[in-house]
Amino acid sequence: MSALPRPFNPPARVLMGPGPSDVPPRILAALARPTVGHLDPSFIQLMDEVKALLQMAFMTGNDLTLPVSGPGSAGMETCFVNLLEPGDTAIVAVNGVFGQRMKENVERAGAGAVLVEVEWGHPVDPAKVEAALKAHPEARLLAFVHAETSTGVESDAETLCALARKYDALSVVDCVTSLGGIPVRVDAWGADAVYSGSQKCLSCVPGLSPVTFSPRAVQRIRGRNRKVQSWFMDLNLVMGYWGAGAKRAYHHTAPINALYALHESLLMLAEEGLEKAWARHLRLHLALRAGIEAMGLSFLADESCRLPQLNAVRVPEGIDEASVRTQLLERFGIELGAGLGPLAGKIWRIGLMGASASASNVLLCLGALESTLAGMKAPIHVGAALPAAMAKI
Ligand SMILES: *Cc1c(COP(=O)(O)O)cnc(C)c1O
Repeated sequence: MSALPRPFNPPARVLMGPGPSDVPPRILAALARPTVGHLDPSFIQLMDEVKALLQMAFMTGNDLTLPVSGPGSAGMETCFVNLLEPGDTAIVAVNGVFGQRMKENVERAGAGAVLVEVEWGHPVDPAKVEAALKAHPEARLLAFVHAETSTGVESDAETLCALARKYDALSVVDCVTSLGGIPVRVDAWGADAVYSGSQKCLSCVPGLSPVTFSPRAVQRIRGRNRKVQSWFMDLNLVMGYWGAGAKRAYHHTAPINALYALHESLLMLAEEGLEKAWARHLRLHLALRAGIEAMGLSFLADESCRLPQLNAVRVPEGIDEASVRTQLLERFGIELGAGLGPLAGKIWRIGLMGASASASNVLLCLGALESTLAGMKAPIHVGAALPAAMAKI
């Protein structure tokens, strides 16, 4: 190498896409504390606290509650490889990108996936799910996404988990984008396996995936006929380090500093209070919505199923959406998300997740979007968005 690279100093950004969200300085500071050993008594205490804080966030008493060492997709894969065996059948509801990813996981675990599809932009249809459960009494589980980040849609987790129980299937619920932003009531729903991610409404750094398993799910994992094909994700082994009364035996080296950060972010959530965090996401969504609609733009999802933390906004006719995102990034440092799959070029995804759900971000985003669209001669009302949003903040 002729010249050494210089240390990486990231540009200042306002993260208002589908994740990661802005990480507060307090969490970054926690990350920078000295590394200790993963079996250090002080670290064991931190693990116990992380587990208790996750139980609070998930609203569960589940003993098997821990952060998987890996991003949200690792939590997803942990659920499927532990709960399915080759030849099993799983019903997978697909209403966006992450339902499709669940199907991939089911098939790679050697199981068969029965798909229950709806058009993207709509919630999972419980009647279709019930028909599939009836038609497939052999199905061992029902998997669905609570908060579909690709479309900004919430599905009715309580009803879907109840259906799974009625037909004696386990429920696997993707709460990557919901945890901390809208109610996730694991015990009240009777959900069996739930996974999330650190970098969305928890506003932690990416790379950890909180998961929780009901006693029914644990029974299934302990009673498997075959070993889990993934050594790394085999919860029977991971429980030796994270489980209740575990000897904290070495399995893999925990991502120590990332866990300091998760601990700090969960502490911030506990200090704010779950209900207050949900209310903040909703209030700022309503402010953003007022501004978006005052400008003359509209949402993809119906308001009955709209996620506060992920706003899928339709791109006006004739506007190059990628050019808008580039200008927002270059002129204002704002990152928005693009549409995926069939929605590519048709929507922007505006995230109001965790620390990114702030009044200043809502106003900055609306002002920047308005000036950019006006500069491109888009057919919008100029001057209406900020007063409309201010009235709701
Ligand atoms: C972000 C996301 C994931 C994947 O998380 P990664 O951390 O990117 O692996 C899964 N499901 C949903 C709904 C998500 O929003």
